[in-house]
Amino acid sequence: MCELIFYNARAITMNPAQPLAQLVAIRGKKIFAVGDNSALSGFPKRGSRVIDCGGKTLLPGFIDAHCHIYAYGENILSLSLSPRDGVLSIADIQRLIHNHSRTKRSGTWIRAKGYDEFYLAEKRHPNRWDLDRAAPAHPVKLSHRSGHAHVLNSLALKYVGISAETGDPPGGVIDRDPATGEPTGILYGMSEYLSKRVPSLDDTDLKQSIALVNRRLLSYGITSVQDASSANNRDRWQRFLSWKTQKVFLPRVTMMMGYRHFLEMIRERRELDSADSEVCITGVKIVAGQVTGSLNPGPEELTRMIAVIQQAGLQAAVHGVEVPVIEAVCDAVECLMKMCARPDPRHRIEHCSLCPPPLLKRMAKLGIYVVTQPSFIHFNGERYVKTIPAEELENIYPIGSMLRAGVRIGFSSDFPIVDPNPLVGIQAAILRRAENGVPIQPHEGIGLLDAIRLYTLGAAGAAHQESTQGSVSPGKFADLVLLNEDISRIAPEHIKDVRVQMTVLDGQIVHEEQV
Ligand SMILES: [Zn+2]
Repeated sequence: MCELIFYNARAITMNPAQPLAQLVAIRGKKIFAVGDNSALSGFPKRGSRVIDCGGKTLLPGFIDAHCHIYAYGENILSLSLSPRDGVLSIADIQRLIHNHSRTKRSGTWIRAKGYDEFYLAEKRHPNRWDLDRAAPAHPVKLSHRSGHAHVLNSLALKYVGISAETGDPPGGVIDRDPATGEPTGILYGMSEYLSKRVPSLDDTDLKQSIALVNRRLLSYGITSVQDASSANNRDRWQRFLSWKTQKVFLPRVTMMMGYRHFLEMIRERRELDSADSEVCITGVKIVAGQVTGSLNPGPEELTRMIAVIQQAGLQAAVHGVEVPVIEAVCDAVECLMKMCARPDPRHRIEHCSLCPPPLLKRMAKLGIYVVTQPSFIHFNGERYVKTIPAEELENIYPIGSMLRAGVRIGFSSDFPIVDPNPLVGIQAAILRRAENGVPIQPHEGIGLLDAIRLYTLGAAGAAHQESTQGSVSPGKFADLVLLNEDISRIAPEHIKDVRVQMTVLDGQIVHEEQV
C-alpha cells in the first residue's frame, strides 16, 4: 500500500530518464512509483491519502548545500538591525538597543544582528562608544550582515577580555583608535574568538530557536541541509544528533567540521565514519582568504590540509571568495591528483564569488564542486555594483559560464547571511537582478530547470548524496515539495512570491499551508 499519492501534478523530477510526471506514489520513507495519471487506478486507495495537485508543480525537496544552523538559531532570537527592517542610521541602532535593554536585566547580553554600514547614513560601523550611549549596563554584541565583523560595547569588551594590551588573534583584527591604541569595539574575522567567550544561548533558548529554524526551513520546502560552520566540533555534532532524535529538527543534516576540530577527532580516533548516522560528517571546512596581501593558509599549508582531509575520506570545503584562493585550491587539488588518485574526492569551493573564465575550465577539469549562493545577487547586488570594481564585477558569480564550462554546482543560501528561501535563489539565478532591479551580468542567467536542478540534485551531489536525494525517482527518499502554482507558467520576476503549499520529508507531510 502507498500511504501518500500525488496525482494531477506537474512534477519536475530532475530524473533524466523521466523528467516530467503527473503521479508520484510514496510507500514508507521512499518514492515507490512515478508515472502519469492513468496509473492512479492501479493503486488501492484505502488507507492512502490521495492528493489532487490541480496542475501545480511538484519538485524534489530543496537542498541547501551551505548554511549555518546554529547561527541561524541565534539569529532568529536576536534583535534585527537589517536595513530591510528600516535600520538606516546609527541613531536607529541606538534607539533599538536602548529599548531592547529596558526589557532585560542589567548585565545580561544583548545580541543584535544584520547591520550594514553601507546602508547607514553615517557610512561607518557603529563603535563601542555609540553602543555605550544606548546600553551602558548591558554587554552588547552586534553582528555585521556578513557575519565577519562584530561590534562590542565597553562592558562586552571587558567581559571577553579585550583591552588596549590585547594582541590581534590569528586571522582576526581588533580595530583601534590610531591616537590612543584603544580598541574601538569593531572586530574583524573574530567570530570563532567570540564564540568561545560570549556565552551562547542557554539550552532552552537554543532548543526553542532550533525549533523555529526547523519550521522556517520546512515552510520553504528545504528537506536537507549541509552545515558549513567552521566552529562545528564534536559537541555540536552531538547536539545536532540530539535535536534530530528529539525531532526538534527534521531536515536531513550533513555536517562539515572545522579543520581544527576535525584534527582533534582523528587524533582521538572518534567516529568520523558516520554515514549511517542521522547527522553524517561528509566534509571539513577550511576558511581561506587574503589577509594583508598574502594567503592564509599559504598554498603549501592548504595543500597539506586538503591532503589530510582526503586521506580521511572526506571532502575539503574551502571558503573561496577571491581569485587567489580559488587558484590555490585548484593547485592543491591538481597536486593531490598527481600524488594519489582517489576517484572523485569532490573537494568543494564555497561561494566562488569572483571567478574569471580560465579558472572555470580548470575547476571543471579537476572535478572541483562549486557551492554558491544565487540569492546573494538578489540581496547584495546593489552593494556589489557600487563597491566592486567594474573589471571584477564582470566575473561575479558566473553561474551560466560555470555550467557551460562543465563545472559541477550546488546551490545554497548561506543562511543566516541571507534568507533561506530557495525560490529567491532560483529567481536570482535566472534573472540576475538585484532587489532594486539593477541587472548583475544578466548573460550569466540560467534556465528554470537548471536553477531547480542546482537547488536539488546539484546540491545533493555536493555531499555525495545524489543516489538517495535530489530527484523524484523510485527508490529515493520521499522528500517532495508541492508549490502553490505551476512554476513553469510564472514570469521569472514572480518566482520568489510562489509559496510552498506542502513539504514531504521521509514520506511524511511536515508542512502544509492551509488553503
Ligand atoms: Zn557560510
